[in-house]
Amino acid sequence: MPDKRVVFDFDIAFTNGGGIQGQDFRLDIDGENISDKELADYIVQDMQLLMVGEVKILNKYYIEEKHKRATIATAVDEQLVDLSHTVFDGLVTYKGLPAPVICDYLSREKSKEFYEEGTTFQIGKIEMVTNTGTYLDCPFHRFEHGKDLSQITLEQCAELDAITINATGTTAIGKEYFTGKEIRNKAVLVYTGWAKHWNTPDYFEGHPYLTEEAAIYLKECGVKLVGIDSHNIDNTTGKTRPVHTTLLGAEILIVEHLCNLDLLPESGYKFSAVPPKIEGAGTFPVRAYANLKGFL
Ligand SMILES: [Zn+2]
Repeated sequence: MPDKRVVFDFDIAFTNGGGIQGQDFRLDIDGENISDKELADYIVQDMQLLMVGEVKILNKYYIEEKHKRATIATAVDEQLVDLSHTVFDGLVTYKGLPAPVICDYLSREKSKEFYEEGTTFQIGKIEMVTNTGTYLDCPFHRFEHGKDLSQITLEQCAELDAITINATGTTAIGKEYFTGKEIRNKAVLVYTGWAKHWNTPDYFEGHPYLTEEAAIYLKECGVKLVGIDSHNIDNTTGKTRPVHTTLLGAEILIVEHLCNLDLLPESGYKFSAVPPKIEGAGTFPVRAYANLKGFL
């Protein structure tokens, strides 16, 4: 495919008054086209503009011309990677636990009586066990007097330096996966590949888990959080849960049912999985994500 360039005018207003205009700008792009939003973000970033208000992209068209510098797609690559499954009505996350019921408290139809013609709202109602979707475990989940969702700090679950451990093809993930790695004070994300079975019966049986020895090693090394893209971080065939006991007992938070860990680099990125601040609950769904900013 021949190189494509986009040609356009722009009109940028500043929030503190004034503005600038540009005519007949040309930029190299990957592929066939680029949205106005992407173009606007690119020129604001590239020109290091501050206090930018409305940005209008005008008279946009494409030409074939040889590229002169790195294309826009390379320059503004996606930096956030979503590591969370979607929670929906009827989803079974954990065999034996009820699926969430997601419905209207105030339906859009019912709301019409409260507002002007054309103005409607929906207020949802969710009945759900707290172990649903991609979720975080706090010490309270395992220990009566452990910290609950309202008591853990953002430092324990937000913007943590992270490392990905590739443990695909193994069921009992031992200490040897973590030796020789830079893991102290980090979120350690264990990539098993099990997320491919999500929302199928295969997800519940024979899933990968950490051994007790691995959990003790992670505790001794002072990791901050451990995440896994599997059904449970513990072996669920017996009646003990040594990994939960070891990690949560040391205030090391756990995130289970992650996904997309195959998209992560080995290190050099940040991980976040922040739950709402609720008293008296020890687990809750999170929008877990990685920020690759600075890595690319
Ligand atoms: Zn758990």
